[in-house]
Amino acid sequence: MTAESDSRHVSTADVAVVGAGPAGLFAAYYAGLRGLRVAVLDSLPHPGGQVSALYPEKQIYDIPALPGVLGRELIANLMDQVRPFTPEWLLGHTAVTLNRTAAGGGWVIGTDHGGDVRCGAVVITGGVGSFTPRRLPVAGPYENRGVVHHLERLEDHRDEDVVIVGGGDSAVDWALALEPLARSVTLVHRTDRFRAQAHGVELLHRSRVEVITGAQVTACHGGPHLTAVDITPLGGAGPLRRPARTLVTALGFTARLGPLAQWGMALSGNRILVGTDMQTDVPGVFAAGDIATYPGRVPLIAVGFGEAATAVNNAVAVVRPELGSDPGHSSDNPPQTAGASRLAA
Ligand SMILES: Cc1cc2nc3c(=O)[nH]c(=O)nc-3n(C[C@H](O)[C@H](O)[C@H](O)COP(=O)(O)OP(=O)(O)OC[C@H]3O[C@@H](n4cnc5c(N)ncnc54)[C@H](O)[C@@H]3O)c2cc1C
Repeated sequence: MTAESDSRHVSTADVAVVGAGPAGLFAAYYAGLRGLRVAVLDSLPHPGGQVSALYPEKQIYDIPALPGVLGRELIANLMDQVRPFTPEWLLGHTAVTLNRTAAGGGWVIGTDHGGDVRCGAVVITGGVGSFTPRRLPVAGPYENRGVVHHLERLEDHRDEDVVIVGGGDSAVDWALALEPLARSVTLVHRTDRFRAQAHGVELLHRSRVEVITGAQVTACHGGPHLTAVDITPLGGAGPLRRPARTLVTALGFTARLGPLAQWGMALSGNRILVGTDMQTDVPGVFAAGDIATYPGRVPLIAVGFGEAATAVNNAVAVVRPELGSDPGHSSDNPPQTAGASRLAA
């Protein structure tokens, strides 16, 4: 961290939330509830963090008061909750640098788009870091023309021929979820050892999913859109061709803390150390969710929600000391939905 070096300007917020995973979305909600203007940045082009990127179609069972909820629905609910407070969304923007404002008393976050977010306090909810999907080189030409890394909505693939590459939970879960509605589902994995849970693999072998192991996708075919793939056994036999409207390369994501590691906060491994107020050792910079750590922390969404509320309410005491950190009870004070105008008053 240094003092800011230039005057680029994109947005101004009371609190900037870095990361739009579940913890970041709830932090944005709480900042709105407390009457703060909030900007939310995420490297990914869509909100939801790991939930959207890795398991949007899985049921989650350990969210309080929701006996079961699809990952996608959880994120949609969080978005519905925060939307009235009209945060500024900077999706597809990675937060790269953190500098103090020249006048002091605030922060300037520089993004990979060359812009700045000026704010009074920062809440970092960067999870395990920025995600980059592991790619299949031969699939490159059809990226977003049939080749995807995760499935947003199963229903979009009804009656399609789908080929999935991978041997982990996501690959197996998506194959099983698509089996009842797709025209055909083919799962290709380089070995016959799956990393997915044994129960899922057992269901897979009993399903009508065609499972081809010891093979890899070696070519993609089509015109404007993907129509077929070649699957070549590693033993050297000739390729099998399968129709494919969609090729899901479920090869996982690499996550790296990246620029956040250079922001000058005390770390423990790949996590940012925080106190009980979720503040880092840099005053005015807070962390919550999976990126934050302290003795005994467990990486659960429910835990991140509580941390987000704690972080934001303590950030309020920094940005608007007269409001203090005590949020009161939302049931006593129905949410105001004009946070920005309240602040301006
Ligand atoms: C397959 C799977 C199943 C799971 N099931 C459950 C479950 O049943 N129950 C449960 O409680 N938990 C579950 N989890 C864990 C849960 O998903 C995580 O605990 C949760 O997503 C953490 O939320 P978060 O908001 O802290 O971080 P994340 O969800 O990781 O979101 C962080 C966001 O920050 C962004 N980011 C990082 N660095 C930057 C940067 N420099 N600039 C801009 N953006 C940045 C990332 O792109 C990402 O979108 C599961 C995880 C996986 C992988």
